[in-house]
Amino acid sequence: MIRQSLRSTASRFFNTSAIRTMSAPLDASKLKIVKSSTPSTPKPNDQLVFGKTFTDHMLTVEWTKENGWGVPEIKPYGNLSLDPSACVFHYAFELFEGLKAYRSPDNKITMFRPDKNMERMNKSAARICLPTFDSEELIKLMGKLIEQDKHLVPEGQGYSLYVRPTMIGTTPALGVSTPDRAMIFVITSPVGPYYKTGFKAVRLEATDYATRAWPGGVGDKKLGANYAPCILPQLQAAERGYQQNLWLFGPEKNITEVGTMNVFFVFKDNATGKKELVTAPLDGTILEGVTRDSVLTLAREKLDPKEWTISERYYSINEVADRAEKGELVEAFGSGTAAVVSPIKEIGWKGKDIHVPLQPGKQTGPLTENVAQWIANIQYGKEKHGNWSRVVADLA
Ligand SMILES: *Cc1c(COP(=O)(O)O)cnc(C)c1O
Repeated sequence: MIRQSLRSTASRFFNTSAIRTMSAPLDASKLKIVKSSTPSTPKPNDQLVFGKTFTDHMLTVEWTKENGWGVPEIKPYGNLSLDPSACVFHYAFELFEGLKAYRSPDNKITMFRPDKNMERMNKSAARICLPTFDSEELIKLMGKLIEQDKHLVPEGQGYSLYVRPTMIGTTPALGVSTPDRAMIFVITSPVGPYYKTGFKAVRLEATDYATRAWPGGVGDKKLGANYAPCILPQLQAAERGYQQNLWLFGPEKNITEVGTMNVFFVFKDNATGKKELVTAPLDGTILEGVTRDSVLTLAREKLDPKEWTISERYYSINEVADRAEKGELVEAFGSGTAAVVSPIKEIGWKGKDIHVPLQPGKQTGPLTENVAQWIANIQYGKEKHGNWSRVVADLA
């Protein structure tokens, strides 16, 4: 109250840009908690469906241009109330993140590389003129939210709590302009392993008639507006028997991503016997996946450089087709938070299927399997890797 009245007094004396610099930063210490009066009991692990059930509480924080970030609130999960003219509904002022929290063997709850997600969330916000915030404060707030619902964080290998931080512009006006009102909300969903009965390799359609992202565009930001237009091509691929699109770009038919995952290929040079792990470079058309970065980092640490090259370079569907023909295509997989890795078995291109080898009797290649294990070991606290696994709540 005192601050508020000082500010309105000040606004009579200073110009607005001076006022803007006084606007409040996101501050986790101001958190207000209203507990749900109807706490739920955890669902049995085998009934968890990705993103369909949510925990008892959610986090909201509102922002205004005049005052900055307001009081963060944890409150019972429920509907938002927004003016129908709110800019999120008309011009897609929306961005999101996706990360997971895990139970560790020492009875703590950890998050996997949340600083990377917060950094990306701030980049997404800046690109569509929504407010940025102090990453560490939102990590603290997510920890408090998870702590409220800690009984709903599922236990067991492959189980976790999926966390969905979201930011929307809420300015109630139809003029297309910079939002002067915004909101962060965070909801969480207990999830099971993506592959309940072991890996299941997917068939992809190499797609060149639709484009997911382009140079100078926003394909490297997690904006909601990037996702709706990708569903129709996915349905069209599904009609032809393919689960996902392998997104190509440009006259070169460069491989960019698969569905909503980054994608990796493994080639083996017949002449030298050397293997290459390849993924597309971060040129603005590729989402900067935390899993992608983790795969590259671990591959560089763990694979013998005498046998392996790790490349971020352009490569095309034509190279994949040629090398498959020569017997040099070894493996392919998608990478992302939900599935961690997703093995690929076939790629439809020009009316034919390119076959990607799998291990005998298995639905995955050997490197895909190893990568999944390396990452799970860090996520479930069996191995340490710098500050990748961050304690956000204590169960004791
Ligand atoms: C979220 C996402 C990814 C994967 O990012 P992670 O941080 O690894 O979950 C890859 N591509 C697209 C298009 C995405 O939206």
